Amino acid sequence: MPAPAIEAGPSLFSHVGRYDVAMIRDPETLAALRDGVARFVRDRLIPNEALVAETDSVPEPIVAEMRALGLFGLSIPEAYGGLGLTMEEEVTIAFELGRTSPAFRSLLGTNNGIGSQGLVFAGTPEQKADYLPRLASGELIAAFALTEPGSGSDAASLSTSARRDGGHYVLNGTKRYITNATEAGIFTVMARTDPADKSAHGISALIVERETPGSRSASSTARWATVARTRATSSSRIVESRRRRSSAAPRAPGSRPR
Ligand SMILES: Cc1cc2nc3c(=O)[nH]c(=O)nc-3n(C[C@H](O)[C@H](O)[C@H](O)COP(=O)(O)OP(=O)(O)OC[C@H]3O[C@@H](n4cnc5c(N)ncnc54)[C@H](O)[C@@H]3O)c2cc1C
Repeated sequence: MPAPAIEAGPSLFSHVGRYDVAMIRDPETLAALRDGVARFVRDRLIPNEALVAETDSVPEPIVAEMRALGLFGLSIPEAYGGLGLTMEEEVTIAFELGRTSPAFRSLLGTNNGIGSQGLVFAGTPEQKADYLPRLASGELIAAFALTEPGSGSDAASLSTSARRDGGHYVLNGTKRYITNATEAGIFTVMARTDPADKSAHGISALIVERETPGSRSASSTARWATVARTRATSSSRIVESRRRRSSAAPRAPGSRPR
């Protein structure tokens, strides 16, 4: 008997398309961007490495320069104010950023990667219009909250729950090692929406805004910041955090609609 067809939604196609067309579109523009980032790293970031390690924060004037260079929106589509780089182009820029402390790239990294790409691939038009322009400009910092005290590599075993309550989801759980947790304005939180399903299929991704009642972020220990020489990676406790249902999702890849 033939295997059943696998249905691919529009978001899956856009994901595949992004990587299929991974080639340099305009070498001169890319070279100008790469050279500008290289100068920024040499003249502004490397001289501030010691200060960042000491204070565990990137000085605001440097963050403003990062915003002006478009570094928060490297991977976000141009339609939402980003540079819309292909993966190959983005890697070229990442090589330049890799010449300095990872602390700087951590601040940018979530907006270009795990903090925004769920929205790019699977967000609703309203969610994209609401969040992506602010993520691309760096006005808003994104975080991705998957890891928990009892769940790391085996991510599908996570225990944070999201229970429907009328027009809201009620979240309960604790996350840890969340990059930019103390700076982020929005968190993509992975939580179990089907308590009966202990596999990854029982998990959904919910957008939680920092100001949501019940959400708290604790700063990391000094030891972590010193040893890793990277930015604070923090614990976030979500206690009875209420999300309007219209703001929930995108779903985790492969998960079923709830
Ligand atoms: C700098 C940094 C930033 C991070 N940022 C984020 C973030 O933004 N959001 C987020 O959700 N998480 C983040 N994490 C967490 C990261 O995803 C987890 O650390 C990772 O999933 C591993 O989980 P764990 O630390 O609990 O280690 P564990 O899963 O406990 O693993 C410990 C060790 O055991 C090994 N191991 C585990 N399972 C097996 C197995 N079955 N067989 C053999 N060996 C095994 C692992 O390889 C590892 O060496 C970050 C981590 C770091 C270090």
